[in-house]
Amino acid sequence: MPERAYDHNEIELKWQERWSRDPKLYKADADSARPKYYVLEMLPYPSGSLHIGHLRVYAIGDAVARYMWMRGYSVLHPMGWDAFGLPAENAAIQHGRHPREWTLANIAQMKRQHARMGFSYDWDLEVTTCEPEYYRWNQWFFLKMLERGLAYRKKAMVNWCPQCATVLANEQVVDGCCWRHEDTPVEQRALEQWFLKTTAYADELLRDMDQLEGGWPERVLTMQRNWIGRSEGSEIDFSLEDSGERIRVFTTRVDTIYGATCVILAPEHPLSDRLLDAEGRARAKAMLDSRAQKGPGDIEKDGYFTGHYAVNPYSRERVPVWIGNFVLMEYGTGAIMAVPAHDERDFDFCKTFGIAIRPVIRPPDGQLNENTQAAFEDDGIVERSGEFSGLPSAEARARMNQKAEREGFGKAAITYRIKDWGISRQRYWGTPIPVIHCEKCGVVPVPESDLPVVLPLDVKLTGTGRSPLADVSSFVNVPCPKCGGAARRESDTMDTFVDSSWYFYRYCDAHNSTAPFDSKKIAHWFPIDQYVGGVEHAILHLIYSRFFTKVMRDIGLITNSEPTKRMFTQGMVIKDGAKMSKSRGNVVSLDEMAERFGADAGRLFELFNAPPEKDMNWTDAGANGAYKFLSRVYGFVTRNLDRKAEGDPAADRRALRKLHQTIRKITEDFTKRWHFNTSIAALMELINVLEKEEDEDALSRAALDQIMPSLVLMLGPFAPYLAEELWEALGRTGPVFRQSWPAYDEDLAKEDAAEIVLQVNGKLRGRIFVRFGAGDEELKQAALADPKVQPFLSGKQVVKVIVVPDKLVNIVVR
Ligand SMILES: [Zn+2]
Ligand SMILES: [Zn+2]
Repeated sequence: MPERAYDHNEIELKWQERWSRDPKLYKADADSARPKYYVLEMLPYPSGSLHIGHLRVYAIGDAVARYMWMRGYSVLHPMGWDAFGLPAENAAIQHGRHPREWTLANIAQMKRQHARMGFSYDWDLEVTTCEPEYYRWNQWFFLKMLERGLAYRKKAMVNWCPQCATVLANEQVVDGCCWRHEDTPVEQRALEQWFLKTTAYADELLRDMDQLEGGWPERVLTMQRNWIGRSEGSEIDFSLEDSGERIRVFTTRVDTIYGATCVILAPEHPLSDRLLDAEGRARAKAMLDSRAQKGPGDIEKDGYFTGHYAVNPYSRERVPVWIGNFVLMEYGTGAIMAVPAHDERDFDFCKTFGIAIRPVIRPPDGQLNENTQAAFEDDGIVERSGEFSGLPSAEARARMNQKAEREGFGKAAITYRIKDWGISRQRYWGTPIPVIHCEKCGVVPVPESDLPVVLPLDVKLTGTGRSPLADVSSFVNVPCPKCGGAARRESDTMDTFVDSSWYFYRYCDAHNSTAPFDSKKIAHWFPIDQYVGGVEHAILHLIYSRFFTKVMRDIGLITNSEPTKRMFTQGMVIKDGAKMSKSRGNVVSLDEMAERFGADAGRLFELFNAPPEKDMNWTDAGANGAYKFLSRVYGFVTRNLDRKAEGDPAADRRALRKLHQTIRKITEDFTKRWHFNTSIAALMELINVLEKEEDEDALSRAALDQIMPSLVLMLGPFAPYLAEELWEALGRTGPVFRQSWPAYDEDLAKEDAAEIVLQVNGKLRGRIFVRFGAGDEELKQAALADPKVQPFLSGKQVVKVIVVPDKLVNIVVR
């Protein structure tokens, strides 16, 4: 058959059409006797249309899904949409489109693009988080947490634009100003908000990371450990000199407490407001506003003396009480003791405000350093500390904690950096929080039977004023479920991270209308075997979803304690030196790319250009290179479909050796490191060898019949369209991903196998390949059993077998 030209559009559109006619093609089968494999890419935000920067995560997940099918697993590979969120609301404000209409249009567009790329999703299990059948379960989980005291209300700070007179999300704060009012600095306001008690699981979230070791990137684990931020220390009460009221501080270094020269409160500490005068209150507010504008990371230290003093419970010394902008209400107790001689941050603060610096820890082999230019932060020997003087730091801490406990002014304590999760958003496009406020009964949960609380669609979005739902009277004005009196429905919606905290459970039972899912299905599919997504989700999403899992377990819905066994974070797609993004104007649309090079070539290139965890550099030349490689594979297979050739056994052997080496290489890459770049490079080397032997007309039909199907099967996970086309051309049936992954023969793959010439009475009768150094007896038996030799032995008597190791076996017969 003559070689055909590789027409990627013809091939891909043909198979896309065929696949679309078979909606059960990638159906997950929970009843299969095969071992299960749940592979998942993070669900996308439907922001518009996909570009090639989005392609990589899906190309990785899809390659793994297809490979695991071929390895005989029953694969679950679902997809859905993280469909609530701010951009939809902004589209409404800026372009007058309803968030729902905008979102659904984007989903349709992206789904079409997914189909064009040929990804293997089970669309029966599609989850769209903005639909009431999904978000009703957000509300249900919220009620369960409320019952258990894991959801609660408290006053907390929000970003506020005085021009818009509205709350801003963190993303809407640009360089400290409102995104719509570039010159209006953002302020902080205290609002009653809902929180989920992630801190209740802080210890377990940290401890269970041991189970993730090895399966999760070390970098992600480190980020989570830092985010959770466990510190062991002490809580100690200083008492206000005038009122005797207690100020509880948290410190990890109680051994330095005789060196404490002031107490510093967070500006939003409940005591600050009472202790401060009018000027002080204004300063506290300014500190909070500037923290909102700059983030706590890079603010210059600022403080203000309250005019009050507190007493150190150990030394009975009176020290001034300050407020300081670097003290956070959410960490520890919202108050610290400053020990400038032994803490760098305290040193800077006290130096700035002229507060005394008093060293109390000396190095084990040195003296107290009186003229400090910097804090001495190490452990050492405690001095000038009354009954504790002379003790090493660790022992002093233990004894000081005992004393505090004995005398009732403190205790040993553990604190975490992780905060409770504030989920209230003064936004429209999110899950309504299912509670009702009644003047008589207080906060009343919406009864479960009344779920879902449906988000009304007829809402005016202006981007100013209070939460948009607060103005929808049919939504807000409801009778109290308890007393029946007039009441108001909560008008805040949930953070969209709630939606993504449990969506991967819903995939297992996406149409369940009586429960979030059937626990038996979760028991079958969970934990997720492989999760793939961006490292930007290393905290937040990946911590919240672990938290949800633990809560769901404690409610009795599931038995697993962790959602994901293995996590993989892919690198970014770079173009013209920067991450591909709309705002940089360096995006290449998927449609345009597919038209020019083909979905297969685009996927292949993104996997080939770099190891998947590293950033890759998109170039048209690179995509074209991938296209050319696929053309060569296409050409080789189509040219050789009906080729009849004697071939040269040595050439066959070289080609088969390369084939088995390639199978071995790609199998190892999938099993171990996912270095698909080297997998694809190995396929390229294979085609080089095949073309070379082909040029010399050296490959036999028998060898081609072994090589070509294996080549096509190996192409399957990376370039599924072309693989399917060639599979069909080879006269095979059934989808490629349902075939068995080719097995490799270790002996054939061996580079150094010896070619053994087989002779009978000195005449060449055949050749075999045997590992170097095989013993005489092994070679003799192999020669006697060889089918090409046997006809010359029949009816004869073997009188002698001469073996030349690694070279020759000569059978002498009579
Ligand atoms: Zn504004
Ligand atoms: Zn009531």
